Amino acid sequence: MTDLTSMTIAEARQGLASKSFTALELTEAHLAAIEAARMLNAYVLPTPDRAREMAKDADAKIAKGEGGPLAGIPLGIKDLFATRDIRTTACSKILGNFIPPYESTVTSQLWRDGAVLLGKLNNDEFAMGSSNETSCFGPVTNPWRRGGSNTALVPGGSSGGSASAVAALLCMGATATDTGGSIRQPAAFTATVGIKPTYGRCSRWGIVAFASSLDQAGPIARSTRDAAILMRSMAGHDPKDTTSVDIAVPDYEAAIGKSVKGMKIGIPKEYRLDGMPAEIEKLWSQGAEWLKAAGAELVEVSLPHTKYALPAYYIVAPAEASSNLARYDGVRYGLREPGKNIIEMYENSRAEGFGDEVRRRVMIGTYVLSAGYYDAYYLRAQKVRTLIKKDFEDCFAKGVHAILTPATPSAAFGVGEKGADPVEMYLNDIFTVTVNMAGLPGIAVPSGMDAQGLPLGLQLIGRPFDEETLFSLGAVIEQAAGHFTPPKWW
Ligand code: GLN
Repeated sequence: MTDLTSMTIAEARQGLASKSFTALELTEAHLAAIEAARMLNAYVLPTPDRAREMAKDADAKIAKGEGGPLAGIPLGIKDLFATRDIRTTACSKILGNFIPPYESTVTSQLWRDGAVLLGKLNNDEFAMGSSNETSCFGPVTNPWRRGGSNTALVPGGSSGGSASAVAALLCMGATATDTGGSIRQPAAFTATVGIKPTYGRCSRWGIVAFASSLDQAGPIARSTRDAAILMRSMAGHDPKDTTSVDIAVPDYEAAIGKSVKGMKIGIPKEYRLDGMPAEIEKLWSQGAEWLKAAGAELVEVSLPHTKYALPAYYIVAPAEASSNLARYDGVRYGLREPGKNIIEMYENSRAEGFGDEVRRRVMIGTYVLSAGYYDAYYLRAQKVRTLIKKDFEDCFAKGVHAILTPATPSAAFGVGEKGADPVEMYLNDIFTVTVNMAGLPGIAVPSGMDAQGLPLGLQLIGRPFDEETLFSLGAVIEQAAGHFTPPKWW
């Protein structure tokens, strides 16, 4: 039997159908891998009993010919998704041992299609961060290391547990969320594929809210095909989320291998930053060459408001976060710190329950929404957001099918290396936040290595609800770049 953890979802699907192995065997192999990789801290709660139960159920359904599209596929779930009867914390102390009596729509669709829950994955507290270092469960280690070095590197964030687990073969795919880059940046840091769908494509119901107008769920997987398979199950209209859109979910997998001949690919000049590492520049040109060789046409485009995206994001996102996080008051969820009256109880619970980065965001958000500052900050940031969106619309109106950019300005960095200055951390999302501000889909695909042997990714940005084009173009880059697997040391 081949190693059951190193297959893709597409391969496992075939192996299960041809009875080469059972869903229970596949799940057991992953549970053993999770146990052996505890030091990566990718899982905050493995759920082996639930996993075995679900795997047996999948085997029974497969035997009767009733297995769904994900029958028996073991997945990891970011701890931001509510899972019924299973602790869900958003990796914040304030949620304590919160056990939701409900299931998020996205995960319920995965279980409907037969997937198996291996456990809950680590993330930055309330998904605020780019390195997974703000989690109350501690940082996650990236399975990738610099050549000849033992330094522990971050897997990116906020979906660091998802990216690390997928790259280290601790699950076949994972759910993730992306508010400013949290699917695409960790995917780029771990040589995995991550797609943030169009805002409204996946339901946000049952996902712990960070910034509601930006949050979107998506998959992290080891190939574009696997990401497409997962996306099909995760996407779809949900009456419980008023921002979810009622458009039929296409067969994303059919887009893999489709010709990209004649497609117009925009290269935005504003993404060529001063001081951008030569390696990133080279990767970007290489990606453009690959698409050209596949028959696409490259055009230079301009997205003039790009430079305002990050500052505007750091007004809009904290503003929404401060409002969303007002519900954590020590009364309804998790942690409660007593006080001599109810106000003091609120204050003590919030002071004790939130970590530094979350407190920073709540303070900034409250400030920019306060009377007298609202117009100067929040309203102005919303106007800038409209201009950013218009930049993309103008570009697509000229016939551009997708835009190619680097996914991140650097490869993965060391645990504890950044963070003294929060802005240094925020700069990680320089290429990804624009996409959330405009509500567009974006995919990160592994595309090469830096001089130290660390993976780098490219990003493709698409038209609203045209994830299929991203899968087709992403598959071309994947085919040309090849697959990257971290050498096992854990
Ligand atoms: N790094 C960004 C932030 O900290 C984005 C996080 C995310 O996409 N959830 O806000």
